[in-house]
Formats: sequence, C-alpha cells, structure tokens
Amino acid sequence: MNFFANMPRDPFADDPNDPASFLEEEDTVEPLSPEERAAVEHDLKLVQEFARVLGPRGVDGVFFFCEDCGEDHFYEWDIMAANMRSTLGNELAPVHEPGAQPDPSRYVPWDYALGYLDGLEGR
Ligand SMILES: [Zn+2]
Repeated sequence: MNFFANMPRDPFADDPNDPASFLEEEDTVEPLSPEERAAVEHDLKLVQEFARVLGPRGVDGVFFFCEDCGEDHFYEWDIMAANMRSTLGNELAPVHEPGAQPDPSRYVPWDYALGYLDGLEGR
C-alpha cells in the first residue's frame, strides 16, 4: 500500500506559473575572499575539535552576545558547523535564529572553548 498516494497533490504541480517559483532564494552574499575563506575553514576545524573534546564534557556549543539583538545567541556545535559551511558556500547563515530551548549552562564563550583546547595541548 502506498501511503503517499493519499496525500493531496501539489495544486501547482503542473502550473508553469507556480507562485513558489517567484520565491527564489536570494540568500547569496558576496563571495569570500581567500583570506576570509581560510579563516572560516580554520574556525570550522576548531568547531569540530570543540565538539569532539567539549561535547563529551557536557558542553553543547558556544554563545555570543549579539549587539543587534542585545542578547546572547546560542549555537550547538552542529549548527555552528552548518552555518560555517553555508558561509563557505556563499550563503547567508541564519545567525539570529534561536536554537531549540538551549540550556545556557551547557554553552561557553568561543574564547573559553579556545582556551580549553589550548590548555589541553599545552604541556
Ligand atoms: Zn542577533
């Protein structure tokens, strides 16, 4: 039995004037310079490292104080990484999108994560 056979058809499926075609994504931004790209790629590697090292220690991600919103934004490691990949793909990352009910005690500032990693490597 095909469950999806009972789904309503897309009313615009055969319509060449599909209104959705006017909603083209305009989320592309200026291409990154080689320096910017290198910086984001560097940060992406760091995020993956943070997730590996801090994730098991109960840290879900980082938070930033956002001057636009006047409040902290919380990013899980996965979301950070996804945002950076968007940036590398010259798409606008949804930086103001709130995560799902973040527990602030499980997030640290970026610099803290960086310092933690340095502390582990320094010996
Ligand atoms: Zn914001």
